[in-house]
Amino acid sequence: MIDFPPVPSGDRLVVSASAFVAFEQCPESANARFRGEYGPPSRPSFIGGLAHRVFARHLSQGPIESDEFEQVCKEEIGGAPSLNLRMGELGLKPSQIPALVEETRGLYDRFVKFPSDGFEGAEVSLEAEPQPDVILRGRVDAVFNDAGETRLVDWKTGRIGEVDDQLGFYSLLWALDRNALPSAVEAVSVKTGERRRAVPTVEAISSLAARVAAMVTTLRTGWADGSELERVGGPWCTYCPLLDDCVEGRAATAVMAQG
Ligand code: SF4
Repeated sequence: MIDFPPVPSGDRLVVSASAFVAFEQCPESANARFRGEYGPPSRPSFIGGLAHRVFARHLSQGPIESDEFEQVCKEEIGGAPSLNLRMGELGLKPSQIPALVEETRGLYDRFVKFPSDGFEGAEVSLEAEPQPDVILRGRVDAVFNDAGETRLVDWKTGRIGEVDDQLGFYSLLWALDRNALPSAVEAVSVKTGERRRAVPTVEAISSLAARVAAMVTTLRTGWADGSELERVGGPWCTYCPLLDDCVEGRAATAVMAQG
């Protein structure tokens, strides 16, 4: 259904939606992620991660009673290595958990107001290998079936912002994994109520596949000849692991600091 263009052979490469989005913002920053260098964790991303676990639990197992909510949060933190790790990196202490729980409860209280009709699955894992050793991998927050039409949903716990590439990546991944296009893919902010909806077409998703292939080509070419990739400054520099030694990044963050 979707032709993924050929790419140079090279090391096995696992591409996620966030890696693709990072590459489209600043190629060298994405390159750092592939080297295993990550930016500093943030409290909002920890809360967002916990809220996503709670939302998935609600959709899969039913509503969470108010008096059970704190215990559920503790179970989710304890059962998710990534949350546990981030808690340590943020230096969060057990005594700070009640405040985290209350913030997450606020998001959950908003989340339950969204209709769940047609819910089919939460945290649905997708994977495809459209070219040898090129793995596209991701997890869709929720899948709904609206009278036979598949709708993918990505929950946001803050403003929606620029999500077209992320939604396009999920559509591509679904098309490669399931051999069918979803009818719609949405980003929904449980914080603000914003909703961004895209209706994927074969043409648009083929075009996005070509951009993912171009990313793979650029990365593998850079790895082969040892060259650094392009650096592009922007708001994303704040959480870049290369910020301290990056001229472009420091200029961008200085401009942002001036408001
Ligand atoms: S600090 Fe900014 S410009 Fe520099 S590598 Fe990171 S994201 Fe790119």
